[in-house]
Amino acid sequence: MAYVINDTCTGCGACLADCPAEAISAGSPSPYLIDPDKCIDCGACASACLVGAPVQA
Ligand code: SF4
Ligand code: SF4
Repeated sequence: MAYVINDTCTGCGACLADCPAEAISAGSPSPYLIDPDKCIDCGACASACLVGAPVQA
């Protein structure tokens, strides 16, 4: 299990600093992407996000 960032992401970048696994990076088609091999499923990105874009896959 890992989190994924859905297409409601506005690219604000608020989640980047809160990820302890450095799993989030800029990408396409979503402005930001989560590397499922690095994500430890902590949920910090979901807490940081104002639009609810990171969701559990
Ligand atoms: Fe990073 Fe945690 Fe979000 Fe996974 S759930 S991308 S480890 S902040
Ligand atoms: Fe996208 Fe939410 Fe991360 Fe901002 S905090 S870059 S809207 S996922």
